[in-house]
Amino acid sequence: VEGGGGGGKTEKILVSVRLRPLSEKEVARGEPADWECINDTTIIFRSSLPERPLLPSAYSFDRVFRSDCTTKEVYEWGAKEVALSVVSGINSSIFAYGQTSSGKTYTMTGITEYTVADIYEYIRRHEERAFVLKFAAMEIYNEVVKDLLSTDDTPLRLLDDPEKGTIIEKLTEETLRDWNHLKELISVCEAQRKVGETLLNENSSRSHQILRLTIESSAREFLGKDNSSALVASVNFIDLAGSERASQALSVGARLKEGCHINRSLLTLGTVIRKLSKGRNGHIPYRDSKLTRILQPSLGGNARTAIICTMSPARSHIEQSRNTLLFASCAK
Ligand code: ADP
Ligand code: MG
Repeated sequence: VEGGGGGGKTEKILVSVRLRPLSEKEVARGEPADWECINDTTIIFRSSLPERPLLPSAYSFDRVFRSDCTTKEVYEWGAKEVALSVVSGINSSIFAYGQTSSGKTYTMTGITEYTVADIYEYIRRHEERAFVLKFAAMEIYNEVVKDLLSTDDTPLRLLDDPEKGTIIEKLTEETLRDWNHLKELISVCEAQRKVGETLLNENSSRSHQILRLTIESSAREFLGKDNSSALVASVNFIDLAGSERASQALSVGARLKEGCHINRSLLTLGTVIRKLSKGRNGHIPYRDSKLTRILQPSLGGNARTAIICTMSPARSHIEQSRNTLLFASCAK
């Protein structure tokens, strides 16, 4: 697989930051853009606002993307190599992390499409192997897991399987016919997500969405004979809850309980990512949240992870932007 970027960093989590353009509203309010990418790896705070001492004003990552970068570029340098490791039998996770309205869904939607297009292209060029693609989608809201491909609203249970690890009971898994079939299924997920939001007065900024593509393949010459050439792996596309939910959960008082509950998955993910990025010794608390339990096979071990942190350049979002950069710094 030809990777776009992150050359050779097989062990590390690939961490990038994407700055979105000022929105029309932000422009209309006359908000200045405080952040600037000065090269491919460094983003700086360059406003005339008096800097708070002790906070750094330059942050470096594997890659940073200016507000005029396309999602194709973000994919090439921030996700492709990690996502496509799935065709070699290696599990992977691609996360979008950032505050609400910073561009997570915008970024993740494009990245999912580019990955799938490249996977189909790979399959076309490898006629010596037979491939089966399967798709599943779920949402985690308040530590409740729902199937986004089913109209049945019953929460899904997580079960422990001695061989397979955590399995999601009754999760719908569709075998894909082709690329159009996948597009149909993704629109089913979007519709399901909207229904859930309206019915329960939920807010998509509080939920995590996981789209999971599983690829099984084996050499055609061995089909039906032995399965020594068989490979199975999943790539997960995770559109996380707004990161402001994590900082709120840390705040005090009456909202703490709600915040904690809503954000257990986000907080635990932060802890897991920090521990993984510091080397793999010691206890990693995958079991502390639904999100990390579900993703455990695609985090750590020999799995590959990419995190794209999205942020708004606007002055009014400065606190959240800093929190996002701190999260990103801990992950690298
Ligand atoms: P989030 O999922 O983080 O809440 P969205 O992806 O919905 O944020 O983005 C918020 C708005 O900003 C949307 O209208 C989206 O189209 C727009 N947007 C986000 N990122 C970009 C970008 N890089 N370029 C142009 N528009 C963007
Ligand atoms: Mg979104």
